[in-house]
Amino acid sequence: MIELRSDTFTLPTAEMMDAIARAPLGDDVYGEDPTVRELERRSAAILGKEAALLVPSGTMANLVSLLAHCPRGSKVLVGDETDIYIYEAAGASVCGGLMYEPIPTQPDGRLELKDLAAAFPSDPSDPQFALPALLCLENPHNRCGGKVLPVSYLAEVRHFARERGIPVHMDGARLFNAAVALKKPAAELAQYADSIQFCLSKGLSAPVGSMVVGSQEFIRKAYRLRKMLGGGMRQAGIIAAAGLVSLERMVDRLEEDHRNAQRLAEGLRKLPGLEVVDRHIETNIVFFRVVDPRFTMERFMEALGRRGVRVAELGHGRIRAVTHSGVSTQQVDEALSIVRSVLEHGE
Ligand SMILES: *Cc1c(COP(=O)(O)O)cnc(C)c1O
Repeated sequence: MIELRSDTFTLPTAEMMDAIARAPLGDDVYGEDPTVRELERRSAAILGKEAALLVPSGTMANLVSLLAHCPRGSKVLVGDETDIYIYEAAGASVCGGLMYEPIPTQPDGRLELKDLAAAFPSDPSDPQFALPALLCLENPHNRCGGKVLPVSYLAEVRHFARERGIPVHMDGARLFNAAVALKKPAAELAQYADSIQFCLSKGLSAPVGSMVVGSQEFIRKAYRLRKMLGGGMRQAGIIAAAGLVSLERMVDRLEEDHRNAQRLAEGLRKLPGLEVVDRHIETNIVFFRVVDPRFTMERFMEALGRRGVRVAELGHGRIRAVTHSGVSTQQVDEALSIVRSVLEHGE
């Protein structure tokens, strides 16, 4: 099976399994798991922030971040194509009494400053209006094909948010893919956000977990919210041990996933009947469409599945293929020949 649906299908490496078996453990709800503490220290240091918190998922990482930043009845400015807005079950609205204000997303994942500005009421003292309390960015942007936000844009957004007195949260589920693509340290991207979440469980290949990173005061609030949401885990060093290997060993190799994604896109572009959405593949995500009239998207995906290639539907009639540590270059080539064969034989 060539698994291209998501980088969440990555399995822990042998080194991770070994680290898990040997990890010193304690009760992390008491703050006494040394492996978790080490992972939190490392994560904060790598991103150049004061503190970090291990949480079970990216969804919970975003949720505790939104709740920590925003008072009830305030608005969160989020791109209308973001994970937070589309895929997280309206958690901040349900649990935090927050209102999501969807901002139009540009094809490259940016939110335009004029659209963000329009979300602020003309008269903040008028009691009719909910007030923006947080601005969220997604970087890289999943539903924009893994595009990386330019550093100059991050600086503009931070400046905009500072002027209006609200913090910036970066949903960096694949933050290290962005850093590797830009050949910059992750801290350079993180400096433009007040809080960041990144997933250990995607390209970094750990089995479970996300990190929330920010100031000491912010993490203190996030820590309480994690407990409230049921995310306080006891001997969580089991998870953190794999996360430490992720940070140590799995960051630089993301480059390989990016090369494989480019190789996949190049191969797909040569096939009549397909249309690759983006000219440049920046990270590990490739979007394409089936334009061959013999196929619906669903039938095409099923045909690939029967031949051992799994891809995902990702909205707007697009198919998503994600490269990761569980897909070798050779498997990318195999996947391409299977796609070609399905197009040639009509099934
Ligand atoms: C995967 C993802 C999340 C959520 O992470 P889970 O661990 O699946 O809850 C959040 N944001 C983005 C951009 C993601 O890709």
